[in-house]
Amino acid sequence: MSGKKERNKERREKRLQEISLLRTIPYSDHQRWWSQETVAVVTGANRGIGFEIARQLAGHGLTVILTSRNISVGIEATKALQEGGFSYDVHQLDILDVESISAFVEWIKQKYGGIDILVNNAGVNYNLGFDNSVEFARQVVDTNYFGTKNMIKAMISVMKPSAAAARIVNVSSRLGRLNGRRNRIQDATLREKLTNLETLSEELIDRTVSSFLQQVEDETWQSGGWPQTFTDYSVSKLAVNAYTRLVAKELCDRPQGEKIYINCYCPGWVKTAMTGWAGNISPEVAADTGVWLSLLSDQAITGKFFAERREINF
Ligand code: NDP
Repeated sequence: MSGKKERNKERREKRLQEISLLRTIPYSDHQRWWSQETVAVVTGANRGIGFEIARQLAGHGLTVILTSRNISVGIEATKALQEGGFSYDVHQLDILDVESISAFVEWIKQKYGGIDILVNNAGVNYNLGFDNSVEFARQVVDTNYFGTKNMIKAMISVMKPSAAAARIVNVSSRLGRLNGRRNRIQDATLREKLTNLETLSEELIDRTVSSFLQQVEDETWQSGGWPQTFTDYSVSKLAVNAYTRLVAKELCDRPQGEKIYINCYCPGWVKTAMTGWAGNISPEVAADTGVWLSLLSDQAITGKFFAERREINF
């Protein structure tokens, strides 16, 4: 291993040790803006990182609604969690199905009146290792970007006003970094437009992903200057990251008491079904930054991208 790689590995391991330590420090009464009345919704919570985020949030004393596109799997997951003695509820939710989303929103209104935290965790990736197939590109972009967008649009209307602010956390990926050193869109003008908040728009993000999907259909995507690793997945998460910044901008004028903070984070490379259990960290550690962002107190952080509780550039 080269000296630089070795140093990066050491830095990362040190940071993961710090995170393990941070996770053992309980929140003080002063930091706890939440109670058991605080409602958190986690999408795709029947397994993997979503399951862990649900478990940890409930462990902090919130009421957690575990959602799953397959309700029987969701119920089984909830039973496993309830053994820990915390407060969970469960509901069917497919983030690609508008009827499922509307039924969920109606149920939330009737049963809880609203929610305080939305964790958009549900996602798909069909590549492993060095594979870079785009066979499922539409499914990947639809789920990761359009599904997440569907949920944000539907849930903003049921986010409860609160002095501490409601929160949205999008589970994203470093692979979707716009301006990382590697794996980025080659077109510098497009990158600049997607980076600059003056030119960033929903239409631009949608147009970017549509252009990628069109090239997949035309079989020209390989020369399209898209990210080179897990291309469909990277494009989908790039769109999630850009949309996070856009929504943060749109929500920033809300008056105190009605604020909604929205951020995204990369959980790292995680041992879950998505990676064929080949990742280098556990779902417990991977959930940490999502839980931390959900519970941030005294900090009006919005429109940012994090990894291991640290802000990184988009
Ligand atoms: P898993 O494959 O273990 O879990 C994905 C979850 O998303 C499952 O519960 C799955 O449901 C659900 N899901 C997929 N499509 C839909 C849908 N249409 N509606 C509702 N739920 C859906 O993956 P991870 O736990 O690893 O991934 C969680 C998140 O973390 C994803 O957004 C992923 O992109 C992100 N991430 C993961 C990394 C990793 O290394 N694992 C790295 C970076 C980011 P079902 O069980 O029904 O399939």
